[in-house]
Amino acid sequence: MAPENPTSTMTTREPDPALRELSEQAITALRDPAVAPSVEMVLRVADGLYEAIAPDGRVRFDRPDGPDAEPSTVTVEGRNPLGDRSVDRFVGLETERGSLHPDRTTNSYPHGYDQVAQLFDHAAAPDLCVVHSAGHHWPESGGHVGEHGSLDVIQARAPFVVAGRGIRRHGMIDRSIRLVDVGPTLAELLGVAPHDDTGEFLAGTDGVVRHELLDPHDGRPKHVVGFLFDGANPNVLYDLAASGDAPNVARLIEAGTALRFGAMSGMPTVTLANHTSILTGRLPGHHGVLHNSWYDRRIEKSIETNSLATWAFAMQHLVEGTETLFEAIRRTWPDTFTAAVDEPCDRGAAYSTFDFFRSGDVPEISSDTSELPYTNPAYATSSLGYAAWTIIDHQAVEQAVGIWSGRYRDQSYPLPRFMWINFTVIDSAMHEGGPHSDIAEAAIRDTDARLGAVLDAVEKAGVYDDTAFVLLADHGMEQTNPGVRSDWDAVLRDAEVPVRNEACGFLYLNEPAT
Ligand SMILES: [Zn+2]
Repeated sequence: MAPENPTSTMTTREPDPALRELSEQAITALRDPAVAPSVEMVLRVADGLYEAIAPDGRVRFDRPDGPDAEPSTVTVEGRNPLGDRSVDRFVGLETERGSLHPDRTTNSYPHGYDQVAQLFDHAAAPDLCVVHSAGHHWPESGGHVGEHGSLDVIQARAPFVVAGRGIRRHGMIDRSIRLVDVGPTLAELLGVAPHDDTGEFLAGTDGVVRHELLDPHDGRPKHVVGFLFDGANPNVLYDLAASGDAPNVARLIEAGTALRFGAMSGMPTVTLANHTSILTGRLPGHHGVLHNSWYDRRIEKSIETNSLATWAFAMQHLVEGTETLFEAIRRTWPDTFTAAVDEPCDRGAAYSTFDFFRSGDVPEISSDTSELPYTNPAYATSSLGYAAWTIIDHQAVEQAVGIWSGRYRDQSYPLPRFMWINFTVIDSAMHEGGPHSDIAEAAIRDTDARLGAVLDAVEKAGVYDDTAFVLLADHGMEQTNPGVRSDWDAVLRDAEVPVRNEACGFLYLNEPAT
């Protein structure tokens, strides 16, 4: 049975009646043909119903009773912007590359109704959420060739591979899950005690245990290691694994199960919101880390979470009652050792990289990439982003390998029951060059080698056969169209709608512009 939805205790945010007229003005402006190439749809709550409004149609609906349920009310004018919710679109590298930046009439929006409803459960949800189109190119981001953040299938779809002790060996299969299923599934795999007598493993989870991935006859693993390849496009990753260019990813796929249709991230399909969804089992509107930044009217402040200065403190925004997987593991085994390596969603972890930042005792890190293993020398020289993130990812390997060896930076560590490692250079490279670029491929090769180094460390620790591994990302990555860059801020300004635009699409009406 599906767990009770945490939203039963939350209220859906509806714009103040005084803002309704502004909302209508903004919608009219955002349906202007001048911005239609960039504005896929606009989301809001009005008259007790959710709405998705595109230039060529709109749909009103009430909360669906689950991620795949049809709402009891669905009223459509023109084309239904959420009409196609299939999870299996643009699967396979050739298919994706043959249909770059699909038009809204040919795109799909997995779990679309549920994705919209959950967003507005957050107390600081925007009045309007602009969903950018598949091709939309952001000049203000420095001209990223690859992008994510939207509801569409390529931006929502992360890879998902699981292998090792307690895991079924299906190889690559035509299935998908949601990222919120990962926490409950790993909790069941490890044998975590249920949170309460409802039987759910993480308090108020939106996810379910994916029993089809688990093999209880194989016994439970004593250790689980998670690898988050931030921003990895699954079609690209799986293709490189199949061609021998990512042999360690291939090793995990062969030894376990990989989902060709991926694991769907929650809206907005951005980094910190979905790192937190993976490790709490809740959608962004429910765990509290709503976006990379948002505006909280109650305290009249912008909240920024996804930056070097704020990562270490981002978990203070978790909604009360939210439980991380680290906390659930320690609730079950109070003395057990867990480690969060470069992972901001670290609450409850016994070791966390961000403890160094919170204590103000950050180790000296060399900026020289010339001696680093697993590092493409050409891109480490030519790309500032690649150089910066490859250094960070190398530090992640040093921490992980050190901990598995029992010693890191003069501290002794027991073997972790659960370790989570966040690798970031793929996201940087896929933004910079697009998911189908040489720099993206180089980043996957480097990260695959880092994965191999950690797998070797687990083998050296003598517990490989007692360990399960999961490899995933936090969202997808889509090739943008440099010709599609219309500016919805400008049409809102021309229409004289007073609005604050947070994180490129969260609109707060009658608030000063950022
Ligand atoms: Zn990310």
